[in-house]
Amino acid sequence: KDAKEIITQLLKNHDAAVATIAHEIRNPMTVLYSSMQLMSSLYAETAKGSCVWEECMDGARHMCDLLDDLTELNNGNQLNRASFPLGHVLRNSAVLFAMSLNFEKSKIEMTSSIDKNIKRFNGDRTKLEEVFLNILTNAKDALADCKYAPRLQFRAKKLDDKILIQCQDNGCGIPTEIVDKLYEPFFTTKENGTGLGLAVSKRIIEAHNGTIDITSDHTNGTIVSITLPA
Ligand code: ADP
Ligand code: MG
Repeated sequence: KDAKEIITQLLKNHDAAVATIAHEIRNPMTVLYSSMQLMSSLYAETAKGSCVWEECMDGARHMCDLLDDLTELNNGNQLNRASFPLGHVLRNSAVLFAMSLNFEKSKIEMTSSIDKNIKRFNGDRTKLEEVFLNILTNAKDALADCKYAPRLQFRAKKLDDKILIQCQDNGCGIPTEIVDKLYEPFFTTKENGTGLGLAVSKRIIEAHNGTIDITSDHTNGTIVSITLPA
């Protein structure tokens, strides 16, 4: 907890330094993780049953996720802007996510509707794709122990002066006590969460002069709304 507070403080004052350190640690960490994966396949029988080994792999994976997110958090407001077909990218994000749900044999019923009037947009395509993946993944996580038939809806439409993108789930919802904390770096209610997804997403969206807003209740689930200037 102390370490997280120190990192949060550092992030406020020394963005670039944190990014550099995260990046430097990430490389050897990736080597470590890939080597562990390789070893686990080479010694499948002995390694597989060992929970110690699995703990190590989980730890290494978590560390890689954390370093990825940390690097992103710092780069969040440095955009690499270009004109790209936003409607097409939104449709792709939805299709890829639906495919991954399918692949995992998930029970989530996902629907998407992307307005045909959403055309080209000037922004950072890679970073926006990451935002869409973040909010879709959060919705999926929220649907893990869903009481009802789990449903996820991803939609986007063009309004007069903005583009509205929404991700709605009928999952666990967000207790009112924590609503103010959602965008704080490292705030998570998940055992293996990094708590950086929404912090990163907010930075990226605001760097595009957009907004991100979350409304939720315990019975109807959650709606994440993002707007981008048209
Ligand atoms: P992480 O996913 O690693 O926990 P995030 O920054 O993405 O970090 O999300 C922070 C927290 O916000 C989550 O731990 C969860 O408690 C809450 N949250 C985000 N999206 C949803 C959602 N769709 N339904 C319920 N809770 C959510
Ligand atoms: Mg997340």
